[in-house]
Amino acid sequence: MTDVAQDASCQAKASPRWRPGWRAGALLALALALAVGWRLSPSDSLTLATLQARHAELLAWYALAPWQVRGTFFSLYLLVAALSLPGIAVLTLAAGAVFGLAWGLLLVSFASTLGATLSFWLARYLLGDLLHARMGRRLLAVRGRLEREGALYLLSLRLIPLIPFGVVNLLMGLTPIRSATFYAISQLGMFPATVLFVAAGQQFATLRSTSEVLSPAALGALVALGAAVALLPALATRVLQKLRQRQLLAPWRAQRPRKFDSNLVVIGAGAGGLVSAYVAAAAGAKVTLVEARAMGGDCLNYGCVPSKALIQSARVAAQVRTAAQFGVSEQPVGLDWSALMARIDHVIASIAPHDSVERYTDLGVDVVQGHARIVNPWTVEVTSANQSVQRISTRSIVIAAGAQPVVPDLPGLQDVGFATSDTLWAQLAACSELPRRIVVLGGGPIGCELGQAFARLGAHVTLIEAAPRLLEREDEDVSALVRAALQGDGVNVLTAHTALRCHPSPTESGGSGDKTLVVKNAATEEEYAVAFDLLLLAVGRLARLKGYGLEALGLDVDRAVPTNAYLQTVFPTIYAAGDATGPYQLTHAAAHQAWYATVNALFGGFKRFAVHYRHLPHATFVAPEVARVGLNEQEAQAKGLAYEVTRFDLAELDRALCDAGKAPPAGFVKLLTAPGTDRLLGATIVAPAASEMLPEYVLAMRHGLGLKAILGTVHAYPTYNEANKYAAGVWQRAHAPNRLLALARAFHTWRRG
Ligand SMILES: Cc1cc2nc3c(=O)[nH]c(=O)nc-3n(C[C@H](O)[C@H](O)[C@H](O)COP(=O)(O)OP(=O)(O)OC[C@H]3O[C@@H](n4cnc5c(N)ncnc54)[C@H](O)[C@@H]3O)c2cc1C
Repeated sequence: MTDVAQDASCQAKASPRWRPGWRAGALLALALALAVGWRLSPSDSLTLATLQARHAELLAWYALAPWQVRGTFFSLYLLVAALSLPGIAVLTLAAGAVFGLAWGLLLVSFASTLGATLSFWLARYLLGDLLHARMGRRLLAVRGRLEREGALYLLSLRLIPLIPFGVVNLLMGLTPIRSATFYAISQLGMFPATVLFVAAGQQFATLRSTSEVLSPAALGALVALGAAVALLPALATRVLQKLRQRQLLAPWRAQRPRKFDSNLVVIGAGAGGLVSAYVAAAAGAKVTLVEARAMGGDCLNYGCVPSKALIQSARVAAQVRTAAQFGVSEQPVGLDWSALMARIDHVIASIAPHDSVERYTDLGVDVVQGHARIVNPWTVEVTSANQSVQRISTRSIVIAAGAQPVVPDLPGLQDVGFATSDTLWAQLAACSELPRRIVVLGGGPIGCELGQAFARLGAHVTLIEAAPRLLEREDEDVSALVRAALQGDGVNVLTAHTALRCHPSPTESGGSGDKTLVVKNAATEEEYAVAFDLLLLAVGRLARLKGYGLEALGLDVDRAVPTNAYLQTVFPTIYAAGDATGPYQLTHAAAHQAWYATVNALFGGFKRFAVHYRHLPHATFVAPEVARVGLNEQEAQAKGLAYEVTRFDLAELDRALCDAGKAPPAGFVKLLTAPGTDRLLGATIVAPAASEMLPEYVLAMRHGLGLKAILGTVHAYPTYNEANKYAAGVWQRAHAPNRLLALARAFHTWRRG
């Protein structure tokens, strides 16, 4: 069995705000101050009874040395507030009793706010890292909101005197609110309750407990005021949104039908549109699904399915080519190109029934084949292939029109011809054999997947990427491993190279010869031409935005259909899902969004659901595969989050060793955890079946399970999934309770006699 600790590493990367030594010292000082404060103070001396007993004495002292008493009181109040010690309510009452309303208010208001600010700083600068590690991800989810509305939340918390003073200071210390804002809002928000308490202090002698100060009516008024302030931003946003929507709909109002043909019209029958229609039909709605091209959209016809079918043929070719490493006689790899392309067609045909008109009609969906155009916020016009036109009135519309490949503005591109994911499969099917020289422009997931597959099938592939590395959204170690894998399969990887222009090179006889792409090396500034028989553009995909009515509606579209958290456009009747709105151009992201868009479109008047992308997995199907959920290192750093890295290399995994050829197995599991806890911030896997291994981590993150839960789960031997458990084991070893282990060792030594 594998010793998981070997060659595996677990290291912490803390945010640089405090050096550990400094923080430990400061925390110790704080703990001491608290201990002394609690010991000296309050519970004994700062009780109502004690102060009432010494009331006359205090008044006499105040009459004798007013400034000395004010100064002493102010300092004591500040200390109690800063350290969140008990007794603050009694002190406030005492201020009224001794100093009267004006001086009492002045002293308490400033001392409490300054004390609160000190306590806020303690939380922010001393405990910040610690608390961020524990709550950072939850805070991150609401960070934007806190940045915009933090002041109003603080005001409402301050107004409600039921919420402990110290808790508010601590919580706000973790938010991005500015210190000056915190100070000003605290002073304002605490003022009403301060007035009540200081005024009540004037009846100090007759009070039996601090709770008598707030009558139910006064408390109720403060709670109502606080709640109103808390709800104000949401209410204001909602009202403004409604006004804007009314304004937008005004020019169309006259066209609003009295009755509707459908509850929902869905534009596009790709991953997003199909799920949207399915959900609406399942919810009992009358739904019309309009598709202009093939049912199933990009994924089935031009994207995931054909590319994965091609990758499988390439995998087989690579296995045959390396057969001798496994003791099997090597055969020259021969390609039956038409059989290979026929297989791709067959795979598409075998999946097509899942997305077919028949299936969706059986599910209760009205499927209309034709080109949809939004005429007004309640009407969609469909033009079918035979040019017949029908108008469908509907309460809501979901746009699931997908995306299309970006075609860069390269001089000469149209002359040499090119393929995109939309046209690639038809062009390949028209070839009698695999194009000999293929240039792939773009080193993202699609470029890497297809480039490697073509190379494994025997083409001379040059992959050109302007960025310094492949798969730029992944960490550098992932990019490096993928680059090595592609190069191992014979791909000529040119990163940091910009495509400049295309042209057919003149032959010696003056006619046009090889088609070439001229590229420039960013480091050397050198320009050179790369010849190709097929140029594949894989430089990104942009939402489909034109030709279906968005312009006429006056929707301000730039790169994608703009939607809010409910996937609603500025028009209350129009929603969007999938590649058309983004930001994730993935089949499962489109399906995930479709549920939210549809449910909000149908039931949003009663209850709306904000879409979330937490725990959204993704995979790139290169060999070895790259799969990830949650954050990677570069994202955690960009967000300023402290994290620990745990890594387990596949070279240590028994199953990977069983499957490996001559070279040791390449790949790893890399986990990011919140410092000191086993909670996952993200997991990246580079392995032959990384996409199949990832769901264990997706499940763990989705349901709040830590690495200890994965470690405590039995995994079948020998499987790639065991790497997940071994990575958890590496984390566990790095966090072993060393003192306890030392005790255990001593115990066993003693037992041996
Ligand atoms: C080569 C490649 C490989 C990929 N591999 C993967 C992968 O492995 N995993 C993964 O998760 N994702 C992958 N993707 C991405 C995936 O295909 C898309 O994210 C997914 O298809 C998006 O679904 P969608 O419903 O938003 O759009 P689409 O699937 O594009 O569907 C939109 C549909 O709307 C129709 N339409 C547009 N306008 C109109 C109109 N006016 N009237 C009627 N119909 C209209 C279009 O014809 C189209 O059928 C890949 C993409 C490509 C190109």
